Amino acid sequence: MLGIFGGTFDPIHFGHLRPALELLQTLPLDQIAWVPCRQPPHREQPVASADTRLRMLQAAVDGVAGFEIDRRELHRAGPSYMVDTLRSLRAEAEQRRLCLLLGMDAFRGLAAWHEWRTITELAHVVVAERPGWQRPAAGELGALINACATRSVDDLHRKHAGCILFQPVTQLEISATAIRSLAQAGKSVRYLVPDGVRDIIEHERVYAPPKGA
Ligand code: ATP
Repeated sequence: MLGIFGGTFDPIHFGHLRPALELLQTLPLDQIAWVPCRQPPHREQPVASADTRLRMLQAAVDGVAGFEIDRRELHRAGPSYMVDTLRSLRAEAEQRRLCLLLGMDAFRGLAAWHEWRTITELAHVVVAERPGWQRPAAGELGALINACATRSVDDLHRKHAGCILFQPVTQLEISATAIRSLAQAGKSVRYLVPDGVRDIIEHERVYAPPKGA
């Protein structure tokens, strides 16, 4: 079973990494594919370039057993739609179980994603709880939860796709937005990101205002 962890990773931080590792071990997943997006369709564009975001991701996950970077969205022109990514992963291995891993904030926005119902036909959705974000109780997602939520990890292995699982993970109130603000203010981002990521942010002044500004 493959986990897919998509994001802008602007930058990658421990609020991504620790929940992902816990999902890898508890579901369990054979692997997590980290999928940096080139052009996010549902939010403002990243501050760091795609190349810098990729290098920060490499600094964080290279050499970690079970973590792999998948560059397909970086190589694909146009908006980075998750449905296209899932379709191409499905085409590579028809029978493999796919689990889209989302934080609660991302899940709450799912009904606005391009072809979102197809997403739930191609993959299971595993939602990591995130501080400050509650499960949707009503609307299209409320209905989806009523129809598809499961408490059983075994269902993910038994069924081909279409389950929604809410999985408790260590709650880390860390966001890329807050990290960018700290860096821009000249403050340290130590202990929020891996040291290799901090080195890139600091040495390349990724989020700092241009010198002299
Ligand atoms: P930003 O602050 O720029 O919006 P972010 O910190 O939310 O960024 P993204 O790259 O946009 O990071 O998020 C990618 C995925 O990681 C999303 O599914 C999001 O819900 C999840 N995620 C991010 N931070 C956390 C966290 N602290 N706990 C759980 N999930 C998280």
